[in-house]
Amino acid sequence: MTSDTIHLDEKSQRLQPKYEQNFSASYQPRVSYHYNPKVSGYHYGVRHPMKPFRLMLTDHLVIAYKMYEKMDLYTPKPATQEEMRDFHSDDYLEFLKRVTPDNVAKFSQQLKQFNIGDDCPVFEGVYDYSALYTGASLDATQKLISGSSDIAINWSGGLHHAKKFEPSGFCYVNDIVLSILDLLRFHPRVLYIDIDLHHGDGVQEAFYNSDRVMTVSFHKYNGLFFPGTGDLNETGIGKGKHYSLNVPLNDGIDDESYIRLFKSIMEPLITSFKPSVIVQQCGADSLGGDRLGSFNLNIKAHGECVKFIKSFGLPLLVLGGGGYTPRNVSRLWCYETSIMTDCTLDSKLPEELPFRNFFNPDYSLHPNLGDKLDNRNPKKYLENVKMKALEHIRFLNGAPSVQMSEIPPDFKKLTAEEEAEINELNDEDRMMIDARDEARAGELVD
Ligand SMILES: [Zn+2]
Repeated sequence: MTSDTIHLDEKSQRLQPKYEQNFSASYQPRVSYHYNPKVSGYHYGVRHPMKPFRLMLTDHLVIAYKMYEKMDLYTPKPATQEEMRDFHSDDYLEFLKRVTPDNVAKFSQQLKQFNIGDDCPVFEGVYDYSALYTGASLDATQKLISGSSDIAINWSGGLHHAKKFEPSGFCYVNDIVLSILDLLRFHPRVLYIDIDLHHGDGVQEAFYNSDRVMTVSFHKYNGLFFPGTGDLNETGIGKGKHYSLNVPLNDGIDDESYIRLFKSIMEPLITSFKPSVIVQQCGADSLGGDRLGSFNLNIKAHGECVKFIKSFGLPLLVLGGGGYTPRNVSRLWCYETSIMTDCTLDSKLPEELPFRNFFNPDYSLHPNLGDKLDNRNPKKYLENVKMKALEHIRFLNGAPSVQMSEIPPDFKKLTAEEEAEINELNDEDRMMIDARDEARAGELVD
């Protein structure tokens, strides 16, 4: 509570609550927050858009609003190589572990093999950084599995592009795939939802032939925009047919259209698929004004999607992802933390916030981000996307029955037919790589 008429001395100001607890919802989940501050100290490079210090800004905001009073806080350990081996190849992990900016010249063969370059540079401590954000996701997952948390948050995770043998799109280790693999040991069906600006290709690919993991991604798509995949017709293969859903969007989508589309697809999907746990990737590059972005979403609209998923009352792993305008990334994830803990935050940022000047001139949790670009998603286009998505959901035909003995899934046992289908996709992708790299190069310039 604030009052304009009463002047508070310094101690009273410090003791003043920074949030208002809502008691409206009947669902009162136990929330945990998993953050190792070391993760924010790494640097991809001066001109690189990925800035791990956005995580420090997020944490400062969460703490300044005193939301630590509403959650269990954990400082997780880095993931071990053995844990990361559940998805990634040993060769690749060994390479990440050994390579440094100083010895990188000796690894010329591997640099090509492991797709190291401008997007995914070799920087000091790249392996430790990856192990830290992955460790936080695995710790959060563990709390969900043991039942000590209903909602577990790791804003440093959500690196959805990383592949089994290589990094991609600023992601080195796929903490999401590793978390889902752990969840599959105890949960019959996992729903993965991705609202990053970019297609969640690494997660989709890992579970493309599984009916136990449904992946849903809302993203910008025009065939060229990174990573080039995520069209409506990518729906899964073999047993996983119909268990991948993609919602391709054009530039400039606004709050109202995004929320309406999101809810109208997710509601029937959750009812049909009946997940027992949900993983939500909350990439912040879908916000308006993002350095690499092209949507028009405001913080409240992005949060509304997360609030909607929370309302189903299922165990929920909440992860970060992309987001390249650090002050907006941190505002978003702080706001979404308040949704999870069911608090209302004063939109004026707390006076005690470190680096508060970073948020000038408005010092607000909710700057207007919604009018940067024209909306290139006509109603008719969105109606058509929705109709196709709903048709696709009808194929689900109720939740698959699950043999828990089938777990953990074995990635090596694709049928020859499935391999061929994947290789076919890859060939198509490869033809587009040059054009995509060209489009991407501009993004790396300040
Ligand atoms: Zn992204």
